Amino acid sequence: MPNSPLKPPVYRFAPSPNGALHLGHALSALLNADFASAAGGRLLLRLEDIDRARCRPEFEQAIFTDLAWLGLTFEEPVRRQSEHFSDYEAALDRLKARGLVYPAFLTRGEIRAHVAAIEAGGGTWPRDPDGAPLYPGPERTWDARQKEEAVAAADATGRPYAWRLDMGKACGTVDRPLTWRETGARPQGGTDNPESAAGAITARPEAWGDVILSRPDAPSSYHLSVTVDDALQGVTHVVRGQDLFHATAVHRLLQTLLDLPEPLYHHHRLILGPDGRKLSKSRRDTGLGALRESGLSAAHVRALLL
Ligand code: GLU
Repeated sequence: MPNSPLKPPVYRFAPSPNGALHLGHALSALLNADFASAAGGRLLLRLEDIDRARCRPEFEQAIFTDLAWLGLTFEEPVRRQSEHFSDYEAALDRLKARGLVYPAFLTRGEIRAHVAAIEAGGGTWPRDPDGAPLYPGPERTWDARQKEEAVAAADATGRPYAWRLDMGKACGTVDRPLTWRETGARPQGGTDNPESAAGAITARPEAWGDVILSRPDAPSSYHLSVTVDDALQGVTHVVRGQDLFHATAVHRLLQTLLDLPEPLYHHHRLILGPDGRKLSKSRRDTGLGALRESGLSAAHVRALLL
């Protein structure tokens, strides 16, 4: 759906408060702010805190401190995903009503054992773009009654299960080629040799298999909540790291299934550490707080990154 020429473009920075922000996050936040300012657009902050076990108030507080230090201000109120689970449940209900999701009972250990048994026998098992094995999906072929009974029994006993998208079925309902419009760079053979990806990118959501939409420990997943929120917040431009380039295929599929508008995407380069690997939140020395304490200024960070 084309963006209205009358409304200003909407950008968002969407960190998860599950660790300290690092230079990669600073690049994302600064690019969003610069693009929004150049386009006369709006700039939103969204805290992606559906993982209640890993997200903590002190990380959230540190995000506000780091962003203020970078000189960035965002519109109020800030959207916290944990306050909007009912929005994601409503989207999941729509997919359930269309028969596009199924309850999935295999634990991580059971998935690993399944794949290990196949590989031990000389077979291969497909993996998603992040390297995780695709869900075997024994429940996919159950009839509606079997699924209902399994869910009722699990609810009665507290046995955990997830809701997964039936990827084959979902892709089968889409009658046009799925693409997205990209203005950034395509990751290729690592992250330091980006190939320009400007133009239409063919989305291949099937590479991800039956993705999780709701999990035992949170009534939503990253893919579902990011897609719902970008639409609810009227986001027109998604600017984020190349580590999420391939995930865009799933987001485009969910947007299509849920009749949501299509934003423009810009995936930026990743910042690599001295070891050549992408920075991680668990490395405290490259966190923005640590850099600030070591005497670096926000102007230095800007000069370093942009
Ligand atoms: N919350 C995600 C992260 O911190 C970013 C999601 C997005 O920008 O789409 O990696």
